[in-house]
Amino acid sequence: MVREPYDEEEVAEGVWQISGSHDWDAGVNAVALVSGTHAFVVDNLYRPGDARRLFKRIQSWGIEPDALVNTHWHTDHTIGNCLFDCPIWAHVTGPKYLKRYWPKWVGGPRDRRAGGLRLKLPDHLFDRRVSLDLEGAEVQLIHVPGHTPDSIGVFLPDRRIFIAGDTVMDLPFVLFGDSLEEIRSLRRIQRLRPRMILQGHGRPCSGTRLAGDIRYLQRVREEAREARRAGLSKEKFLETPLERVLPSRRCRALAKGYSEAHHGNLWKIWNEMSSAR
Ligand SMILES: [Zn+2]
Repeated sequence: MVREPYDEEEVAEGVWQISGSHDWDAGVNAVALVSGTHAFVVDNLYRPGDARRLFKRIQSWGIEPDALVNTHWHTDHTIGNCLFDCPIWAHVTGPKYLKRYWPKWVGGPRDRRAGGLRLKLPDHLFDRRVSLDLEGAEVQLIHVPGHTPDSIGVFLPDRRIFIAGDTVMDLPFVLFGDSLEEIRSLRRIQRLRPRMILQGHGRPCSGTRLAGDIRYLQRVREEAREARRAGLSKEKFLETPLERVLPSRRCRALAKGYSEAHHGNLWKIWNEMSSAR
């Protein structure tokens, strides 16, 4: 289950999943879509050293990336932006969050967490959907909010491969987003009928997983609604075990760190219910 720091694998022809280390055991992924001497890079890992290694590795293939995509503003996906001298695509709301949180999460270039890297904002923005071209193949960027408000996915319609960023994780994680939006986005991805989904953390999965992800979020929402109706305290609700809302076979397969994600989900969804939705 534990991924070695920095690893790469061609999961489909010209689709490289590149993994780096993370505080979570599942690691973190970037993706390089390669066609001839052209490439789109999706995200750029978490540790500054891993981001540099990713960038150099792509250069070693004789490729200068045509575009970088930020699936969302979280700095475990955007730390290496400044290494790339190409258009950086993101959702129209992405720069706002990066500007607000980078100083807290990463700090200045001299900060240990930055490792000499500095903030570089995306400069190619879109709202709902945009189509790009990679050597004659269509590459769609689609807004799929939920994990964060600015989350986007990258879809290759010819091959039905969906690069999800953190919209799809081994356990959905909505602490920084919104559970209803996440459910809607997971349904949107289902309608694309992807054959393969590349996740922001963890191994690729198939589209059949999404139904279980939606069910988990719905069950947490039901539990929160019930708990509020029954007058349960927030503290008590936050003790809701993962096993109560996710099949045990999926609980067992989760890497360390996801119990914290579950706790974050409980906290967020409890708060959402206070606005009575
Ligand atoms: Zn992430």
